[in-house]
Amino acid sequence: MTATAPAGGPAHRRTPGDEPSRTGATWRSLAACRGLGPDDFYSPPYHRALARCRHCQVWEPCLFLALASEGAGYRYGAWGGATPAQRDAAYAYLAARHLDPAALLAQEEAWWSRRLVGQDDQALAQAAA
Ligand code: SF4
Repeated sequence: MTATAPAGGPAHRRTPGDEPSRTGATWRSLAACRGLGPDDFYSPPYHRALARCRHCQVWEPCLFLALASEGAGYRYGAWGGATPAQRDAAYAYLAARHLDPAALLAQEEAWWSRRLVGQDDQALAQAAA
């Protein structure tokens, strides 16, 4: 485990583009790994974390967050359903296509923000009806 390992898993780190909806929801609210501890993410072979990732609806922003915030040679733990070696391969795949993980993360966060705000609006409209 690294000294910077966050409690509750990698998806709980905040980024500037992660605007909460009116009810405070962000894509991180939907993380399937909520409740797991740092050892689940940072102790290979990461079975418990990766089992959650397989059923996680926000694996894409999580993976792009990892790729945008890690440097090559500084990949630790399970993020976005991927081991450090798998993220190295994903990073190389994107780099070969001139795709920037930070830009992909921003697109994902904007999409999830719109979706969660839409869900808030729908719930408020139903409550007022
Ligand atoms: S993809 Fe995995 S690490 Fe990322 S939020 Fe989902 S369960 Fe957590």
